[in-house]
Amino acid sequence: MRSHYCGELNDTFVDHEVTLCGWVHRRRDHGGVIFLDMRDREGIAQVVVDPDTPDAFARADNARSEYVLRIRGRVRMRPEGTRNPNMATGLIEVLALEVEVLNTSVTPPFQLDEHGKVGEDVRLRYRYIDLRRPEMIERLQLRSRITHSVRAYLEGQGFLDIETPILTRATPEGARDYLVPSRTHAGEFFALPQSPQLFKQLLMVSGFDRYYQIAKCFRDEDLRADRQPEFTQIDIEASFVEEQDIMEITETMIRQLFRDVLDVTLPEFPRMRWAEAMQRYGSDKPDLRIPLEMVDVDDLMTSVDFKVFSAPANDSEGRVAALRVPGGGRLTRKEIDDYTQFVNIYGARGLAWIKVNDRSAGLEGLQSPIVKFMEGVVDELLDRVGAEDGDIIFFGADKAGIVNEALGALRVRLGEDLALYTREWAPLWVVDFPMFERDDNGRLAALHHPFTAPACSSEELKADPAGALSRAYDMVLNGTELGGGSIRIHDHAMQQGVFEALGIGEEEAREKFGFLLEALAHGAPPHGGLAFGLDRLVMLMTGGRTIRDVIAFPKTQSAADLMTDAPGEVSAEQLRELHIRLRSKASEQS
Ligand code: ASP
Repeated sequence: MRSHYCGELNDTFVDHEVTLCGWVHRRRDHGGVIFLDMRDREGIAQVVVDPDTPDAFARADNARSEYVLRIRGRVRMRPEGTRNPNMATGLIEVLALEVEVLNTSVTPPFQLDEHGKVGEDVRLRYRYIDLRRPEMIERLQLRSRITHSVRAYLEGQGFLDIETPILTRATPEGARDYLVPSRTHAGEFFALPQSPQLFKQLLMVSGFDRYYQIAKCFRDEDLRADRQPEFTQIDIEASFVEEQDIMEITETMIRQLFRDVLDVTLPEFPRMRWAEAMQRYGSDKPDLRIPLEMVDVDDLMTSVDFKVFSAPANDSEGRVAALRVPGGGRLTRKEIDDYTQFVNIYGARGLAWIKVNDRSAGLEGLQSPIVKFMEGVVDELLDRVGAEDGDIIFFGADKAGIVNEALGALRVRLGEDLALYTREWAPLWVVDFPMFERDDNGRLAALHHPFTAPACSSEELKADPAGALSRAYDMVLNGTELGGGSIRIHDHAMQQGVFEALGIGEEEAREKFGFLLEALAHGAPPHGGLAFGLDRLVMLMTGGRTIRDVIAFPKTQSAADLMTDAPGEVSAEQLRELHIRLRSKASEQS
């Protein structure tokens, strides 16, 4: 039906006849001449319809926003003075010879260029309109180029694209499962995969050697952060590899991707031990664009006359850390109060600070509600953090976990507020993760997942599980975890040992993961892999604000789809077939 996309036209097409198909972006009546901005996925072109073509004119006159038209016309230069160099097609226009109305449209719920005035719920309810916005089109086009680049690279490296089931058993990645009732097996349920983890490992046992998949994953999480119940991973696994191999393959992939799609050459990917990342940045995904670092000062605070500091300084699980902010002395009282509230969110009970007005003036030159308690140690403190005139030093003092979270988040927030970024892209690898962390009940839980290989022997793992490190690695970019993976356990006994450490008894292990344990006993090769969060990656590369901006049909924060109105109720008949009887709302609360 069409000869060209609207957005494709430029002055090389002058005097050519073209046929465009698209939507009326805007219609203007300029006293006898009608201008139609015609839009398709490639952009916008200006069409002029004059009364010399009466049929075309009448149709253009009746056309309204978002009508679908087919226009045959001739490309010509815009008259001098009306050219728009800021627009890709701004030098030319199309003089219409024929206008055909392919479809009309009711008045759209919002004007595309006024989307900011409507709430996101309206945009999601009419997502198909929202997706007509050039910004959204560009993001999804970029997403497609990203997956294309990734596929091309991986295929070139001998990776095979193999699909794994969506209806399956639970694969633990630390979230709740989405369950699907079975009609044919009364009272039984499938789980949607939280990741293809176990299947990709089984493919390695089969000998496929190099696997990838752009895979949908499902996790029923509390959606406080920027998460989606279904999201996409670039999932990768390979056999006969060590950490080094997977890191090299995937780092090259990401480098090439940035070059292909953004024309960006990423800098070096330094490697940082997990413990160091926590100590210096309070985070296992440090944003290295921000030049602020946390410094331990516990040893200085053990005997100060200020319990808020001395108590955690004397507690083996406590931490007292300082964060020096160069030039932060200009922060106002109100701003400091705001930051105090901000760290509250992370469990910090306050935010102590010292402003360094004039170091040469000793205590006199410092401004702070707490400095009076620190007379004996303040010089050493200032030396240690490298304080200079005009700085502010913030403190975190509490359980180490709280200090890390609170000061770590404050560091990121300050980086943003004070525009401290030193560069545009800061990638790194985080390595040497602990195998386990303690959950809220004090039990050991896998930090990655229970199939991650420990960096020690079975005996060492048994003797000190809490101290064991794993063979896991995360790729981090600008404070975002792009992907994570590990070398896996390929030894049956070791896998059982890890289940044991996690408090998963033999019986339960057999019931849940019997197939994996069996497979490991049938000649499983050493293997490992990694998965990238595609949505996050696209968000970073397109500058989107949330992952919803780079997903065609995302769900809301409460995991609903406003457009299709899912989830929805189902008929009594369907429930009966599925052997399900709903509890009444009242009994559910009991
Ligand atoms: N399955 C892991 C995840 O989804 C990634 C991996 O270990 O390859 O986080």
